[in-house]
Amino acid sequence: MKQVYLDYHTAKPVDPRVVDAMVPYFTEKFGNPSSLHHVGDVATEALEESRRAIADYINADDDEIVFTSGATEAINLGIIGYALKNKSKGNHIIISEVEHISIRNIAKYLEREGFEVSRVPVDQYGMVDIRKLERRITEKTILISVGYASNEIGTIQPIKEIGALAEERNIAFFTDAVAAQGLVNLDVQRENVHLMALSSNDFYGPKGVGVLYMKKKYRVNPIMIGGGQERGLRSGSEDLAGIVGMRAAVEIMRKEMDSEVKRLEAYRDRMIKQVLEEVPDSYLNGHPTERLASNAHFRFDGIEGESILLMFKDMDIAVSTGSACTSKTLEPSHTLIATGLLHEEAHGSLQLTTGRFTTDDDVDAAMKAVPDVVSRLRELSPIYDSKKR
Ligand code: PMP
Repeated sequence: MKQVYLDYHTAKPVDPRVVDAMVPYFTEKFGNPSSLHHVGDVATEALEESRRAIADYINADDDEIVFTSGATEAINLGIIGYALKNKSKGNHIIISEVEHISIRNIAKYLEREGFEVSRVPVDQYGMVDIRKLERRITEKTILISVGYASNEIGTIQPIKEIGALAEERNIAFFTDAVAAQGLVNLDVQRENVHLMALSSNDFYGPKGVGVLYMKKKYRVNPIMIGGGQERGLRSGSEDLAGIVGMRAAVEIMRKEMDSEVKRLEAYRDRMIKQVLEEVPDSYLNGHPTERLASNAHFRFDGIEGESILLMFKDMDIAVSTGSACTSKTLEPSHTLIATGLLHEEAHGSLQLTTGRFTTDDDVDAAMKAVPDVVSRLRELSPIYDSKKR
């Protein structure tokens, strides 16, 4: 039986066209951009072309792009680097309750280092309320962090409004755009984003490469100290093959995004309609309309996410119940809890995420499996109300 993969928010395969673009940079174009000879020049050219391609996608200038070893490092550099650089101006930062685990843990770290952190709640759909955000701003606030979209429930935040508020109050606005990149048009000028993290893998490029966008006025302190690469902001030899891969991935995405998004939206809408119609006591998690094209997220009364996962695994269908970054703990997803769900409701959730290589057959297989898995688990469930069976 063919393996079905519906967990694109956790990891994406590298597009074979990206692999082709990368290969020469492991072998004949192996140079170091810091070298002043011809081999180094070839590397420098590739590095700068990649920087330009990524800057162009988000409407930034080339010198506002810093290559990192992935989104986690970009987030560390953006938030910790900005906080350290600006601590004389204030020690207060605001994050949303639905930030990625890396941002939640950075916030805890900064609290231990003497910063104050406010956490803005979200509504039942996981959306940040601008008025609540505004009420948390003090004269000591230096940074606001709200992820562009949820990698779990797919809700897209009102980024433009948050950016406008931050700009008006002269506060830096950081957004982790990893879940949204390649699915929405990002424009740091239009959206007043000052700092933004991206990852190569979420464009179908290699893992372990990322970018911090940093608007000129919003400087950060480096957190990786060494030979001074990336204008002193990120020392260490650049992963040139990876960076070239990220560029190729961005260029392919820009050509194909519109048609890809349409295709994924059709899958998403079909899955949502079918599950809600065919499975009694099922609900959609996340926003009904302001959601990523790739994301369908459900909860079912009376069953546990863990057992759903195992039954899907038996059928060779890869799905998720929440953020992979926290799935090794038995804690329910902080995002689902922030939307007001009880622990048992959060545990009874299923995340189906599609992507570039998803086929009709994959979606058919999942749609056939969901009603069956849910009813089999409910048969065994001591908590599912028998009257509903
Ligand atoms: N932010 C989001 C929304 C993510 O989904 C992830 C993981 N893909 C990260 C940040 C961290 O990215 P990386 O693994 O590239 O460090």
